[in-house]
Amino acid sequence: MPSLKRTHNPHQASSTLARALDLYEYQGKQLFERYGIPVSEGRLALTPAEAVEAARELGCPVVVKAQVLTGGRGKAGGIKLATTPEEAEAHAEAILGLDIRGHMVNKVWVERASEIEREYYLSLAFDRGAKKPLFMFTTEGGVDIEEIAATKPEALVRLHVDPLEGHHAWQARRLVYEAGVSDPAEQKQIAAIVGKLYEAFVACDAMLCEVNPLIVTPAGEVRALDSKFTVDDNALFRHPEIAELRDAADLDPLERKAREKGVTYVKLDGEVGVLGNGAGLTMSSVDVVTFVGGRPANFCDLGGGGDAQGVVDALEVITSDEQVRSIFFNIFGGITRCDEVARGILQALGQMGIEDPIVVRLDGTNAEEGRQLLTDAAPPNLHVEATMLDGARRAVELAA
Ligand code: GDP
Ligand code: MN
Repeated sequence: MPSLKRTHNPHQASSTLARALDLYEYQGKQLFERYGIPVSEGRLALTPAEAVEAARELGCPVVVKAQVLTGGRGKAGGIKLATTPEEAEAHAEAILGLDIRGHMVNKVWVERASEIEREYYLSLAFDRGAKKPLFMFTTEGGVDIEEIAATKPEALVRLHVDPLEGHHAWQARRLVYEAGVSDPAEQKQIAAIVGKLYEAFVACDAMLCEVNPLIVTPAGEVRALDSKFTVDDNALFRHPEIAELRDAADLDPLERKAREKGVTYVKLDGEVGVLGNGAGLTMSSVDVVTFVGGRPANFCDLGGGGDAQGVVDALEVITSDEQVRSIFFNIFGGITRCDEVARGILQALGQMGIEDPIVVRLDGTNAEEGRQLLTDAAPPNLHVEATMLDGARRAVELAA
């Protein structure tokens, strides 16, 4: 499964460079609704008082659902059924402020409760390997898809869609038949939802649209009971209304600070702060630190620019991470000039009083001038290395 959340595996972390915007369930459902995928009516509530109000407007029973960017909310006590508005208030009281796998709940979605006859699973995700969107559908829904894939792989129907050809009606029918849905009215509804999901996915530049569960009610109605909707960050300029949905409060505080400063920063688990210019070099630097036996604490991409102020900003973000014990600064100068980067490093050292050792490897445009500047100034905690491998080794030694 494509997982686009922050991760502790540096190899997976490369996917975070192609950043993605994860939407809350209620936001995803609002997009579903816009594309004609049936969802239950609901209201957002930030306080127990708003939850009562919502329950009254909607009519009970309702479900009160924690809005956090992680799954498994049901098991964590973040989803509760209320038969009266007072009960909805009590549930909201209990759920707001809850910590679900490290995510603080500060809003709940109150929705008209559904009766459930069956729970299915439907998703559409971008399969990077095949370079095509991939549908997955199974009647064994409700549980984690990883679990279905592990225990009952034959029940999971997979179907790629050629992005140039687009989606055809026969594909939806095949998903439904192969999964063994036999009721014609149900087949028809699911096939329609499959087509609309494809439309929503393409129109929103999504990377993942997951409906788990897709329910069938006792009256035979099919509806999306949950939503996981992830949009490609690089396409957000085309979707200002989706970009606005980003919730800065859910980001790691340092990631937020980095974003404000225009620096790409990803938190990892180890001790070596990694700073590079360009996604490729930055990811390679993370790999080389791991290769020589170290563990990156984070990584930061200066991007193509890398002027003195950019270096100061990046170093400020990196050194705010308390886990950092040494910094590996790996620059290959192209458009970025190494003397400019060296000035940035010296400027940052002058104004910030960085105590952690910094290992610098400069190569490419104006590398000699850059190295000269650093050697002349010779700050005590600065180490210059000639190659990427030596630089990484030194940084790892100094972090020990
Ligand atoms: P998740 O645990 O984060 O995936 O949250 P979901 O929205 O998928 O809800 C988890 C489970 O709660 C679902 O699989 C349902 O079994 C149950 N649930 C959620 N909403 C309703 C509802 O309206 N009615 C009923 N009966 N069960 C619900
Ligand atoms: Mn779910």
